[in-house]
Amino acid sequence: YPIERIRNFCIIAHIDHGKSTLADRLLDLTGAVSKRESREQILDAMDLERERGITIKAHNVRLNYRAKDGQDYLLNLIDTPGHVDFTYEVSRSLAACEGALLVVDASQGVEAQTIANAYLALENDVHMIPVINKIDLPGADIPRAKEQIEDAVGLDAEEAILISAKEGIGITDVLEAIVTRVPPPSGDRSAPLRALLFDSWFDVYLGAVILVRVFDGEIRPGKSIRLLSTGKDHPVLSVGAFTPKRVDLPSLSAGEVGFVVTGIKSVRETPIGDTLADAGNTQITPYPGFQETKPMVFCGLFPTDSDQYEDLKEALDKLRMNDASFTFEMESSLALGFGFRCGFLGLLHMEIVQERLEREFSLSLISTAPTVVYQVRLTSGEEVTVVNPADLPPVTQIDTIFEPFILGSLYMPTEYLGPVMTLCQERRGIQRELRYLDSRRVQVQYELPLNEVVLDFYDRLKSLSKGYASFDYEWLDTRPAELEKVDVLVSGERVDALSFIVHKDRAYSRGRLLVEKLKEVIPRQMFEVAIQAAIGSRIIARETIGAMRKNVLAKCYGGDITRKRKLLEKQKEGKKRMKQIGRVEVPQEAFMAVLRVS
Ligand code: GDP
Ligand code: MG
Repeated sequence: YPIERIRNFCIIAHIDHGKSTLADRLLDLTGAVSKRESREQILDAMDLERERGITIKAHNVRLNYRAKDGQDYLLNLIDTPGHVDFTYEVSRSLAACEGALLVVDASQGVEAQTIANAYLALENDVHMIPVINKIDLPGADIPRAKEQIEDAVGLDAEEAILISAKEGIGITDVLEAIVTRVPPPSGDRSAPLRALLFDSWFDVYLGAVILVRVFDGEIRPGKSIRLLSTGKDHPVLSVGAFTPKRVDLPSLSAGEVGFVVTGIKSVRETPIGDTLADAGNTQITPYPGFQETKPMVFCGLFPTDSDQYEDLKEALDKLRMNDASFTFEMESSLALGFGFRCGFLGLLHMEIVQERLEREFSLSLISTAPTVVYQVRLTSGEEVTVVNPADLPPVTQIDTIFEPFILGSLYMPTEYLGPVMTLCQERRGIQRELRYLDSRRVQVQYELPLNEVVLDFYDRLKSLSKGYASFDYEWLDTRPAELEKVDVLVSGERVDALSFIVHKDRAYSRGRLLVEKLKEVIPRQMFEVAIQAAIGSRIIARETIGAMRKNVLAKCYGGDITRKRKLLEKQKEGKKRMKQIGRVEVPQEAFMAVLRVS
């Protein structure tokens, strides 16, 4: 294909606005997938993604389209992850495109991630085409969607394409708009190689597979390439594209998008945002904006059954091969034994990893409450990073604790503004901007400590707005804060895995709520159990669980045998998620209770 007949584009949207459905229709219409192969949402590769309806990894499909002008075009659809945890990956995928379809659900209107993604597209000089989807719905309000697109995103909504991805209405208009409105790539095929690495994953047979956008020059098997982040050269074993089946090609040249296989074994050596050059070339300037992704949210993961420690380690190693942004390191806890302290980009990323471990590796896990990264300046002048509350140095050695802040953007129907603002204030939020998108929707921005967001903020937001408020955030900075560590003691023993770091003003109320919660979730034992919350040696709250009076089975004696068996089985089920702390058995919920205390 001559470069002027290539179009590289992606689809951006708030979750559930119809990105995957539209991608499927585009694949259908360009004949990329035969009817027999066609299945729902072909781009979402992992089961987990399919079930949650989210797209975790960016994929890329090459489509051939004969336009109304009679010419054949090569369209590269680059699928971007939609969630805030993966903003950097979205931004790199956008950098590989000249155009983006901005999909807005006609019944929901513009939402948090619509705007966040649109801004990323603007930053990357991507030409946006507004697409209003779900026009088949009775609740579709096209004029309102147009108004919001103009007000919130600043695009001319007169040019919006009206579609129903589900019913297949307007899809040809979308393809024509890609051909006529998205500019073709520019680049020099005979210049030295310069390509952007915008995704990579691990394949058992091929090793690290990298997805690139070539800006200048070409990549072909037999030649070697250099990755600028490491300065290492690697032979090119094969190049190609997905149709969506993987096909090898003789080369990838300026303007094109495709995969490269080099024999690199680990995705840690192929960071997203890296630049590829010809082997030995030191003259190429790296593609701007390269960032190392850093985990921002941490939690401890422990096998319920300590015999599974090695299995857990192996599973983490395997996941790590495919996910360079996830980190883990051995941790030992007095209460929970041997496990790992794991780092994630955000809460969703954490949930995904935990779920994959349990599902794909059949592991039963106990996770501690998520925590953020604290920078601690000691009185000695030394600075330490704390990712585990149990590791916070004694108060007497601490000069200042710095905590990470985010800028949260919240979008909601106006009637929920009051409760949302109350929630943000409770979480130590500092209000920045308040803006009405139209008479029914409002946007408000808050500077928030991440520490208060990892604590069930998202769940609270969803429940108080009946699911109508949406939330997006970006990193701001770290700020000094009056923070304290609260410890929990069960029968006088400190449960390191339950320690948490919290703002001084909230230490009492959170400590109290937590011991009350623990009292509810820890079953009665044969003896009395004291549950206490403490700051240093100062006890701030206490509850007592009375001793068990009768054997649970007693009431079944002489009774129905199946009922008795059921009871025993139920207890066995429960046991799986129990941990022994001293003489006390503590269920998994006890650890999660920390999360829900607010
Ligand atoms: P994504 O999260 O943006 O990828 O959204 P999906 O493509 O997974 O769509 C979310 C939901 O909206 C699914 O249940 C789709 O079937 C539905 N959906 C998508 N497009 C349309 C449409 O044009 N009309 C209607 N009624 N539903 C749609
Ligand atoms: Mg999707």
